[in-house]
Amino acid sequence: MSLLSIIAPCYNEEESIFIFYEEFLKIYEDSIYPYDNNMQYELIFIDDGSEDNTLDEIKSLAEKNENIKYVSFSRNFGKESALYAGLKHSSGDYVVVMDVDLQDPPSLLFDMVKIIEEEDYDCVASRRVSRKGEPVIRSFFARMFYKLINLTSKLDLVDGARDFRLMKRSVVDAILELSEYNRFSKGIFNWVGFKTKWLEYENIERVKGETSWSFWSLFIYSIEGIVSFTTLPLSISTFLGILFSFIAFIGIIYIIITTLLYGNPVSGWPSTICIILLIGGVQLFSIGILGQYLGKTYIESKKRPIYLTRESNFEFKK
Ligand code: UDP
Ligand code: MG
Repeated sequence: MSLLSIIAPCYNEEESIFIFYEEFLKIYEDSIYPYDNNMQYELIFIDDGSEDNTLDEIKSLAEKNENIKYVSFSRNFGKESALYAGLKHSSGDYVVVMDVDLQDPPSLLFDMVKIIEEEDYDCVASRRVSRKGEPVIRSFFARMFYKLINLTSKLDLVDGARDFRLMKRSVVDAILELSEYNRFSKGIFNWVGFKTKWLEYENIERVKGETSWSFWSLFIYSIEGIVSFTTLPLSISTFLGILFSFIAFIGIIYIIITTLLYGNPVSGWPSTICIILLIGGVQLFSIGILGQYLGKTYIESKKRPIYLTRESNFEFKK
């Protein structure tokens, strides 16, 4: 007997929950169960502090089907926290993380199960090969972000990688060992390693509702990712500091020599202002970088819980 845990984070998804459930059940009953009738499932919904009827929808499903579990947060903690809570509560030999808006095609689920059972992989992940239906500017910045984070950190993130993936228990346990507060899951998945197979698919637009990511929230998230996985920006500001000190040193020698040779005519006010502005800018920028890391360290040092549960149908509390 083996158990497949499906983790679905939901935030204001009242319209999608039921459609998602039906789609999942179809795949399970038509493909997964006939393929391996020793495989049971548990469907874990994480209600991330939704303000609509998401929780009621989940509860009514849970009444009908005892394989449905849920955890409801005391407020909106964000998808990363929801994923962590889901992984923590899951007890499956295989664990799948997927969105409820059907942007992660449930049809891939069966392929994932087959690959993990038949081939020597620990993880089957998915990536979308197109960004159809997404604003051009957002796609552009997303690409830049992947280039930047791969260049500056030891991570090797795949452009278009989704959180939608199936993992063996060993991978989940490894992920849970990283109990940091600032969670950048794409980086964490990559950081833990393990043998991963990538499945590709075309982008699909969400069934109902709207994405909860604005351009600004994605921007903040990308900084979080970079700060979480590389300290290179700190080295860059050190490097700039050394470079400017060196230039200043050469400049001082130059001024001393020209003053001794030609006297001291007063000129060069505009260039002085430009240099002051430039160096002031670089200093503020460097302090800003320092602040980013210090801020994250401050938050981490408080060791606050990653999520708080308001309600759940798990017998044990995690
Ligand atoms: N989500 C969540 N908490 C949040 C925001 C989103 O649990 O604060 C869930 C959401 O319900 C969905 C998944 O995370 O199941 C992905 O969210 P969304 O579709 O908004 O992101 P996108 O697909 O545009 O990246
Ligand atoms: Mg989505």
